[in-house]
Amino acid sequence: MPDAPSFRHLPSVDRLLNWPSVAPLLADYGRTAVLAATRELLDNLRQATPQSEATPSPFTEAELSAQLAERLTRSHAARLKRVFNLTGTVLHTNLGRAPLPEAAVEALVMAARYPCALEYDLDSGGRGDRDELIEDWLQELTGAQAATVVNNNAAAVFLLLNTLALRKEVIVSRGELIEIGGAFRLPDIMARAGAKLREVGTTNRTHLRDFESAIGPRTALLMKAHASNYAISGFTASVPEPELAQLAHDRELPLVVDLGSGALLDQTRWGLPHEPTARETLAHGADLVSFSGDKLLGGPQAGLLVGRRDLIERLKKNPLKRALRVGKLTLAALEAVLRLYRDPDRLPERLTALRLLTRSDADIAAQAERLLPELQAALTIWPVHVAIAPTSSQIGSGSLPADRLSSHALVMAPPRKKGGGLRALETALRQLPIPVIGRITDGALWLDLRCLDDEAAFIAQLPRLARP
Ligand SMILES: *Cc1c(COP(=O)(O)O)cnc(C)c1O
Repeated sequence: MPDAPSFRHLPSVDRLLNWPSVAPLLADYGRTAVLAATRELLDNLRQATPQSEATPSPFTEAELSAQLAERLTRSHAARLKRVFNLTGTVLHTNLGRAPLPEAAVEALVMAARYPCALEYDLDSGGRGDRDELIEDWLQELTGAQAATVVNNNAAAVFLLLNTLALRKEVIVSRGELIEIGGAFRLPDIMARAGAKLREVGTTNRTHLRDFESAIGPRTALLMKAHASNYAISGFTASVPEPELAQLAHDRELPLVVDLGSGALLDQTRWGLPHEPTARETLAHGADLVSFSGDKLLGGPQAGLLVGRRDLIERLKKNPLKRALRVGKLTLAALEAVLRLYRDPDRLPERLTALRLLTRSDADIAAQAERLLPELQAALTIWPVHVAIAPTSSQIGSGSLPADRLSSHALVMAPPRKKGGGLRALETALRQLPIPVIGRITDGALWLDLRCLDDEAAFIAQLPRLARP
């Protein structure tokens, strides 16, 4: 016999709410939420266990209030959770791309907490333009005459097509009709923006004469899209930007380039693979260049547009600019990130995304050595063998698909090549207070340590894996 009294019938809602053990829940979550959760709980239990005089209910006050507490904790937990990105993809779109540097975090907290001069000119006391907060930084960093910013790069491309090519034709090489992460397809964006796509060349080869013969009275612009997430290799040809720009300008058309990841500085100085910069692309003759704020730039989600002043002015006059504009939090973070670029020498230590991308393999391997015994100790009840193995990280977010960064991983494999327990372990890692996201490849679970900078927090939650 249980020593606590159990109920022959489930208690009424009113009675349950008056239990002393429910009082702390009322204090934490408020009467409305506790009432709703109580009704749900009792309904569920009533359906699961039909009541009758003969079968006393096995529920005690302690059990019922514990179940209620669990329901409330679950339904009130934050949905947007911090995670450990150990996938090996640094700029992981589904995990929020670039983590912001401390300077940007401080700036956006300030902007969140206080009124700020977002569109207010402090010299004159008159109305300002929010783009001015970042325009001169972007001019300096890219050599552009003017700049503007919208919600993301997809919005930037949409705005430029809708402004410059509404009911007109845009000529693009068939080798550049890109899809990025399923949701961004250049042909679809173009159709929705009201522009007509004129494809030229073939998937692997496009020549200047293909563009030349496609230009007609309805042509609005020539467009290039950076092959962000794929590489076409083998028997290929594409038109060099300076030649395409020359052709466009001879016909009095603009050349616009969707750079995608859009580096601001030449990354080879840090040993990273070359990625075209906005400055370089403008120097090649592009009239307008668009790129993302949260890819290689390392800032908040945003779409940056730089280029000829008259074109930027036209974009800013489009009513859609108002619909696609960024908020103060984005601008605060973006401004802080752009300011870091003024000191390129210290950028790798200050800009989080760049710090992770440039982290040395030796440093990662040393971290793996430190963590191996901790992980082994936590996984004694799991039927897996833990080891350190070299791996290669990807930059991600469509940048530089073919280039890899040497790294090290903690690898968990079942003794026999059977993945059964592996899925369960992957799930257990995902259910930790700070979920750990790895990847399963070749019958093993890999945790690439390149992006693990909070080692203490990672270790602190490992003992939870030791409990079944
Ligand atoms: C990533 C990317 C986009 C989409 O950018 P978002 O900032 O995710 O909207 C568009 N074009 C190219 C070439 C890209 O690489």
